[in-house]
Parts: sequence; structure tokens; C-alpha cells
Amino acid sequence: MVKRESNIPASPPHPWPEHLPRPLETYNLEVDVHDSSTECSTNGSASPAPAGSESDMSAEHGFFVDPNEAHNERVDLKAIESAVRVILKAVGEDPNREGLLETPARVARMYAEMFAGLKSDPGRHLAKVFTEDYDEIVLVRDISFCSMCEHHLLPFTGKAHIAYLPSGKVVGLSKLARVVEEVARRPQVQERLTQTVANLVEEKLSARGVAVVVESTHSCMTMRGVRKPGSLCLTSAMRGAFRDDPKSRAEVLGLINRES
Ligand SMILES: [Zn+2]
Repeated sequence: MVKRESNIPASPPHPWPEHLPRPLETYNLEVDVHDSSTECSTNGSASPAPAGSESDMSAEHGFFVDPNEAHNERVDLKAIESAVRVILKAVGEDPNREGLLETPARVARMYAEMFAGLKSDPGRHLAKVFTEDYDEIVLVRDISFCSMCEHHLLPFTGKAHIAYLPSGKVVGLSKLARVVEEVARRPQVQERLTQTVANLVEEKLSARGVAVVVESTHSCMTMRGVRKPGSLCLTSAMRGAFRDDPKSRAEVLGLINRES
């Protein structure tokens, strides 16, 4: 028996650069960014961001920004603005021309958003678990994400698939998507993102097995350097039974890769 949540066609959650091909079909788990009532937050009651706020705007674009998260306040927006002006000058631009006047402030807010997961604890989303007499595979496929390559500060975008074997405890399926979203909102490498998610699920759910597979396209490979549009990077992290038992591993990989 397999509990799955996938194949929910939705518009891409992130604006895709027009000059890049779309190597992946994008599915979205419909994470409700405003639904603070179901949050398993350990830091007190959540309150929705006021209308028109930065969080609101982000939500429109499908980004998850925790309204509780005071990360923006901890980001030195003015320092980023100055740095962006320096970069613009350094490449030969005039930061004072009309089209660029507001760019530094815009970029600063964007970085605050892209790195909103830097100081938060994504494990809090897995704090609330339910006792359930179910010990087969739970798989959530096609969790779309957008992260930032820490080597080039360029986005990498793709899908994560998370499977686990419960040991009496299950978690709300959307919480797995929230974990991915938050871990992605840091300067990242895909390998660490994959392992971080696997470790959190294993630890917080005491899962007997965890399999995390991440596939993504890295802008630093497609639009600069070697310039190979369409190349995919796949990473996986196996824990417990999925690592030790070849049959369990084959089963979960078969489900993750299954045409649907
Ligand atoms: Zn890179």
C-alpha cells in the first residue's frame, strides 16, 4: 500500500527564465502559505502577514515565507543595496540611470526572501506527528523547489521526492513540502539539501527508512560556464531500511521513478 500525493498539475510556482528550456514538468503540492492555523510551530502563535506585505507578495509567486519569520529584519538590506550598486558600477553600468535606480533595493529584498530559511529551524514543521498504525511506504513526489547555488548565487530549480517508512508516527504530507521549501531557502548545494531533508525526516519521525531523491537544473550550468541547457543533477540520500535492504530500496526507487 502506498500513500501518495502527486500529479497535481499546477502552474509553475516560480517564474522560469524565458531563455531556459523546461527540462522538468513542474508540479506543486499546493502549500497554503496563509494557512498558519495548521502550522506546527514551536515559536508561538502564527499570525498572517498583513495584506500587501512582502510575505503576501511572495505568496503570490508561490514562495513560502513564514510570516513568523523575522529574518528580513536580520538581513542588512542597506548593505546589500550598497553592494549591488558597487557591482553595477564595476560591470560598467550607471546605477543612477532610471531603470536601475530601484534595482539595489529590489535585489536586497529578493535576497532576504531567497535566504529566509537561513536562520530558521525547518525541523519544527515535523514536530507535530500523529500516531498511526501504518508501516508501509509513504511517498510524496514532485515537491517543486527553488534554491540558490552557494558557489555562484544563481538559482537551481527542480523537484524533491521524499519517502519514509513510519514506525508508528506519521506527519501531515504538506509538512514535508514545507521542510524542502525552508531548507532550499539558504545558500545551498544540492547534495546538502538532499541530506538535510533526509536527516530531519529520519530524526523527527524516527522513521525506519527514509529516501530522498532530488532532481534539478542548475542555472550555473545552463546559462554560464559549460552552458548545457537541459542537464539534470540527481542526488539521493537513503537511510535505514532503504539503505540497508536492497528490496526496499528497489521498491521505493521504482515508485519514485514510476510513470504516472
Ligand atoms: Zn553553481
